[in-house]
Amino acid sequence: MATHVPHHEKITMPLRVLVTGYEVAPFYKRGGLGDVLGSLPISLQKLGIDVRLVMPDYRSIKKEYPQKKIASFKVVFDKKEEEVTIFQGTLPKTTVTVYFLSNRRLISVINLKKKRIEEFIFFDLAVTGFINWLEAQGEYVPDLVHCNDWHTALIPLLLQRRMRSTIKTLLTIHNLGYQGKGSFSALDQAGIQDEELKLLSRRSPVTELNALGEGILHADAISTVSPQYAKEISKVRNRTKIYHYFRMREKERGRGEVIEGIVNGIDEMVWSPISGRVITRKYSIQTVKKGKSENKAMLLKKLGLPDRPTFSFIGRMAAQKGIGTIITTMKELSSRECNVIFLGSGDPKIEQSVKQIAKEYPKSVRAEIEYSEDFAYLLYAGSDFLLVPSLYEPCGLIQMVAMKYGTIPVASRTGGLIDTIKDGETGFLFESGSAKGLVAAVDKALGVYGKPAILERMRQRCMEQDFSWDKSAKEYVKLYESILTSSS
Ligand code: ADP
Repeated sequence: MATHVPHHEKITMPLRVLVTGYEVAPFYKRGGLGDVLGSLPISLQKLGIDVRLVMPDYRSIKKEYPQKKIASFKVVFDKKEEEVTIFQGTLPKTTVTVYFLSNRRLISVINLKKKRIEEFIFFDLAVTGFINWLEAQGEYVPDLVHCNDWHTALIPLLLQRRMRSTIKTLLTIHNLGYQGKGSFSALDQAGIQDEELKLLSRRSPVTELNALGEGILHADAISTVSPQYAKEISKVRNRTKIYHYFRMREKERGRGEVIEGIVNGIDEMVWSPISGRVITRKYSIQTVKKGKSENKAMLLKKLGLPDRPTFSFIGRMAAQKGIGTIITTMKELSSRECNVIFLGSGDPKIEQSVKQIAKEYPKSVRAEIEYSEDFAYLLYAGSDFLLVPSLYEPCGLIQMVAMKYGTIPVASRTGGLIDTIKDGETGFLFESGSAKGLVAAVDKALGVYGKPAILERMRQRCMEQDFSWDKSAKEYVKLYESILTSSS
């Protein structure tokens, strides 16, 4: 093992942070993680951090965004040498460097449903090979690697145990519900030896690979995406497998470690009815009344819906998002003379039940089962209210985006929704999973809809909220500094 040099003695100025994750907007995005990784680095750079990104290189990226090939290196995977090519580009309209790691066999596939855990393990291994390559160049050696979610959660383990690296790591948990489970044998392909990881399998009750769990065990620090979700995580019970990883970490490091919750920001230039992309008419806080009614008229015309209060849902069709709560209340909602529009895709069963609801209520419900950013903009701009009935929500971006468009969220009282919505002022909150609660919140929303002056004021208050990254990026810098100066 290499001689241990306390890492803070080697801290470079400016701080060098390599951010890694599976999605980075606009190159590839399927949810909030993509938005976060596409915007946080821009604010970090403004604060003087030498931040760079490394992400998988999907074939679809190449056609749209310029990249140049800079080098290649070899990684041993499944006992074979695999070549990884490094392409370099920037986040569009910025100078933030993005590295794309490419391997035709194991990285190029974009279809998530068909992806196997081995492909993520390979990417994590490729990132460590890439860090080796960076070190060999000597031009940019990260002080800290910022990993995000389970897809990149094996990097801390690989860095520490395989590479004997002293580079520090932060793991940000964007969603504890997705952990990257698989057979331990998948690790054989990465050449991870027993002593490196499988000691876990002897620590019953952990019997299978849990990539996020490994990150929880090995990262120098863990954070999550809102203070409220950090509290919820700390209450994870021993019924769940992931609990054991938290316990193990606690045992190894001693009690009292606090999981930091830093609320996500949004790129307010992108998500803006005045400077961003709006399908029909631009509007500002001053012109919200007219702007929204014009956008709404276009939306309703397009969908063949009558002019009435309009509630939309935008998001992944996953159990987490609580679509079931809307469906259970559909009969009651339909008696209230309002429109309900769904945009999303995901779990086929949920997609099916949403389609069914649209069939049952043709006068008031529309279901767009797809991933469409254009349609999402249309909904943010043209809806009166956004339904966010999540059963749990680590942070949630859609409610913040909606507010920026003067669209009032009707959301469940959980996670980041509590941290970002002020009940009665910038939205309406109800108990998550409660059908009664949802109907009551919708009724409150309709009450406000019936009073145009109050409605306009509430919309304006939503638009006035500061969801920029400025504050949160500063908190990340503080966190990076504290990790780099801690002696553990
Ligand atoms: P999550 O990360 O759990 O999916 P968030 O609320 O944090 O949820 O972020 C969701 C992001 O993905 C938002 O930018 C939202 O606009 C976008 N999004 C989700 N579903 C769709 C869809 N069907 N079409 C277009 N954009 C979508």
